[in-house]
Amino acid sequence: MSTEKDFLIPVDSHSHSTQSPDGKNTLEEMAERACELGIGHYTVTDHVEINKFYDEEFLYEEPVRQSSLLLPPLAEKYRGRVDIHYGVELGQPVHDYELAQRILDSYDYEFIIGSCHMVKGWDDFYFLDYKRVNPNFLLKLYFDELLEMAEWGRFDVLGHLTYPLRYITGDFGIKIDMSQYEGIISEIFKTLIKNGKGMEINTSGLRQRIGVTLPDEHYVGLYRSLGGEILTIGSDAHCVSDLGKGIAEGVALAKKCGFDRIYYYHCRKPIEIKI
Ligand SMILES: [Zn+2]
Ligand SMILES: [Zn+2]
Repeated sequence: MSTEKDFLIPVDSHSHSTQSPDGKNTLEEMAERACELGIGHYTVTDHVEINKFYDEEFLYEEPVRQSSLLLPPLAEKYRGRVDIHYGVELGQPVHDYELAQRILDSYDYEFIIGSCHMVKGWDDFYFLDYKRVNPNFLLKLYFDELLEMAEWGRFDVLGHLTYPLRYITGDFGIKIDMSQYEGIISEIFKTLIKNGKGMEINTSGLRQRIGVTLPDEHYVGLYRSLGGEILTIGSDAHCVSDLGKGIAEGVALAKKCGFDRIYYYHCRKPIEIKI
């Protein structure tokens, strides 16, 4: 009988395949890599961008439906080698609650990451030119939308808090005085905790120019100090070579911030793993 300690990488709870517009490897290739790496519990969380759902550049309906058909046999095929879970990264649900609910009602997701990649009226933070737009104007909108999403609460964990900093600080080198957002971030955490929701440590930042997890140590510690318990860790890999990256560092950060367990989700239920 294996224990959690036998796995080199206990979890990877955030990853994408070619079922996402920006994924580079198929579900099968990602699963094979998860197996090679010895990941204990591997969750596929392909994108569903609510406000882009009907855009012609990537029509989500068909790939989203395909994933629901591909995942159960894939999980079955790898049973005993890697524990595969069917999740989703739900982007911008606050832009269309009705559509978000329709998606959630249509598929048996085991795990839902609630994310914000863009605020109403603006493109993805990835595409914006922070020399032309005041970053603080956008950050205020970003945190307001996250609070609204936390209040809505029909997801499991908040994805990559501080995502815009990956571009504002990481790519444009613009330092932000984050103390002005401490109040609203605390409100977001309190709302998540009250609603039984969690947060993720997204390790993608460790392999990008920003060089820290999203969110970083300060916010993982703040979440803990406010009573946060549910924490997941994901690489946000979009290709096989990034799968499992930074998970060990994410676990070490969780421990440093006072967590003695992390979670993965099975059928929308958090399952704890001692760390
Ligand atoms: Zn994301
Ligand atoms: Zn992602």
